[in-house]
This record gives sequence, C-alpha cells and structure tokens, in this order.
Amino acid sequence: AIAPAALNDFGKQHVTNGLGRITEGVITKGNGSYVEYLDGKKMLDFTCGIGVTNLGHCHPKVSKAAADQCMNIVHAQCSIAFHEPYLRLIEKLLPAMPHPSLDSFFFWNSGSEAVEGAIKMARALTGRQNIISMQGAYHGRTFGAMAVTKSKTIYSDGVAPLMPGVFSIPFPFWHQHGLPPSAPDSVLTLQSLYQLDLLLSQQTSPQDTAAIIVEPVLGEGGYVPAPKEFLEGLRSICDQHGILLIADEVQSGFGRTGNWFFIEESGVKPDILLMAKGLANGFPLSGVVSRKELTDKLKPGSLGGTYAGNAVSCAAACAVADAFREENIMANVQARSRELFAFLTELKDDQTLASYILDVRGRGLMVAMEFASSEAPGAAFDPTTPKGLTVKKGMASRVAKKCIEKGMLLLTTSVYEVVRFIPPLNISQEDMKKGCDIFAQSVREVVR
Ligand code: PMP
Repeated sequence: AIAPAALNDFGKQHVTNGLGRITEGVITKGNGSYVEYLDGKKMLDFTCGIGVTNLGHCHPKVSKAAADQCMNIVHAQCSIAFHEPYLRLIEKLLPAMPHPSLDSFFFWNSGSEAVEGAIKMARALTGRQNIISMQGAYHGRTFGAMAVTKSKTIYSDGVAPLMPGVFSIPFPFWHQHGLPPSAPDSVLTLQSLYQLDLLLSQQTSPQDTAAIIVEPVLGEGGYVPAPKEFLEGLRSICDQHGILLIADEVQSGFGRTGNWFFIEESGVKPDILLMAKGLANGFPLSGVVSRKELTDKLKPGSLGGTYAGNAVSCAAACAVADAFREENIMANVQARSRELFAFLTELKDDQTLASYILDVRGRGLMVAMEFASSEAPGAAFDPTTPKGLTVKKGMASRVAKKCIEKGMLLLTTSVYEVVRFIPPLNISQEDMKKGCDIFAQSVREVVR
C-alpha cells in the first residue's frame, strides 16, 4: 500500500487535472464543524463541502440512519417499486414546502440532474422550448445545466455547443446594472424586469418560452438575495404568459437562509422547486418538486435514473429533517447570523479597512463579503468604480488563502472579489467567534 505521506502526490499523479482544489493534503475525517487531514491538521470548516453538510460532518443521527438503512436495503431502484425511505422523506418534506401546492416529488442524485429534470419537465409540460436564466447563475455542470449557467466561462470553455434555446436577463445585483452597492432594490428590480420584458418581445416570445429559472439567492454568482418584488415580478410575468417558474434552491434551501427555503420569505409560489446539497447532509440526493396537477401530465417512464432517490440517501435525508426540527436548527441560524453580520459590518466600518471592503450581504448563514477591486469585470466602464483604488485583482483569494493557513476553510465566489461564509447551521457560538477572529486577522494581514 502507498505510504500515507505519499498519498497526496499519488493523487496529483492520478486524479484529473480538470479538478481544482483549495487545499493541499488528504482529508480523512469530519466531525461537526471540523475536518481532519491525514497529517493530523484540523480545519474549521466554513465551506460545508460547498453548502452541503449543514448539520456538520457526520451528524450522529444522520450517520446512524444511513448505517441502519445499509442493513435493510441499499438500492431499491425507483422504477422497480416505491421504497419506504423515499415515501417517508416526502412525508417529512411536505410540511416544509414553501407552498402547499408543491406536492409532487421525484428524487435524483445531484443538483445538476435536478436542473436537467426541471428543464425536461418544463419543455414537456408547456410544449415550448426556450428557457430564460439569470446572468451570474450557477445551475451545474451537465450540458443542460451548463447552458443555463451564466457565472463563469471556465465551466464551458471549449466544450460548446451547449443546449440551445437559452436566454438570460440581468439579476437584480448592482454590479450587473453598473450601480453602486447602495442601489435600492426597487431600482434593481425594475431594471431586471424591464430587460425581461424586452427579451420577451425581442428575442424569445412568450409562446416559445417554457420556463424562467432563478436562484432565489444568487449563489456562485455573488451571494445576492433576490428582492421580494423581483420574485413577485417574475411570478406575475410567468402567470401572464403561461411560463413556468423554476426556483433553484439547491444552495439556498434547507435552512441555509434561516427558512426551509428562501423563497418562503417572499410568499412567491414556484411551479418547480429544486433542492439538493443540505437535503441529505452529504449523501448524494436531489429533489424536484412540483404540483400533482402538472406532473400528472408527464408520461410514466419519461423520468428516471439508476440511482435516483437512493434508499440510503433518502434515509439520511429523513434524519436530517428530524434533526432540523428536534435540534431547533433555525433558531441557531438566526442567532449565529446576527453575530456574523454584526462582526462583518464592524469590519467594514473600520476606518483602516473601509476602502477595501465594498459590501456585506446575504441571509441567514449564506453570507458574503465583497472586496473592492479596480479590476472587476466591467469596472473600466462602470462610472461607480471608486477612483484611485490600490486593490488589485485576487484580494478575495488572498484572504481565503490566509484563512486556510490559519486553520479555517473558506471559499470565494463569482468573478468578483467575494468570500462566502457557509458554516454549519448548528455551529457553536464559540466556533463562529473563532472563525470571525481568523477572518479578521487574515484581512488585516492581506491589507497590510
Ligand atoms: N444549482 C445551484 C444553485 C448550485 O449551487 C449548484 C451547486 N453548487 C447546482 C445547482 C449543481 O449541483 P451539483 O453540483 O450537485 O450538480
């Protein structure tokens, strides 16, 4: 066997270069808010495996439920018969839906597959082809999901053509409208809806448009919660034209923003709701939820997948839903979120850092800090770009790297200078403070 100390190099030799990594080393264990590497190094995890292990690593109830399920049946294929964990999971999810009309489910493995499923459903149900997505959106790496992804060119460089029939409008994110962070939501919303209106009369007519897909909190594109009035506007345009509204809550769902789903805050009812990531706390599982009245129109056999709705993943997800309720997770999200926002706002208001920090935003424990940059995309043409800035490209990456050196995993996001905070939703007050202290030291060292 390869010596433990040589495993990292073995990985470099034999794992595709197409994958990138933010740390060196080999992870062997995870426990709560920490992961452990082969060399014994312990890291405070503010990434949750990209917003997945919302209840911390190896939550005892979730791991036990999965282990128990392994002794009953592992693979009870969904086209052979219903299996019990699949149905128990629906029973537990129904009361968490943002609207009672969302009552028809199917489960798959990944967020990307859920997006593919939603696109297929929307086309089949409307008999129309085109899909509208948001600038800055991330929906996954399969071909359909990549086609509606508009956050970074790296995902599709050199692999086009993607799925045809995709159009996009700006999200109500100030960057995308050449406005400062202080731009009011009402202005951003109006501009985005105006562009949608134009799009529907200039590029894809309503009778050719099957669906609008939106992340209620723009995720990889910069961690921007959609204003309520924007989601209401999308709903109303969809209603007017018989277009389906798909809410991709793969990252923002499952308690991340302090509600089961972020869209709940707006009262807007999507036609199709997508979930994954936190749903099973690390076991591969995604969900596509719609209305029975709609899904009854789908032909039996038109959807499927060998591993779709795997029994172990569903059993784990049942335990996740139970733990959320029994352990009062939402209250912890609110409390830790207040602390995190207070800390980041104080840092932003610090006179010595003020010119380096542009924005603090997010909801619950899906929070971002954006650093100023004179080299952000579009900055040269943006009249609001601060003049005489000394901050060069890469500040967010430099800060994240410092945090890693100091024992905390932290991710960046989007093409802008953004770091994102996605700690476990049950993180202790002590670990939140520890993470904040590491972050503050890192920012000061990078600025110095
Ligand atoms: N949608 C959103 C909003 C996401 O954040 C992601 C993953 N970051 C996906 C879809 C794709 O999910 P997966 O990586 O599981 O395919």
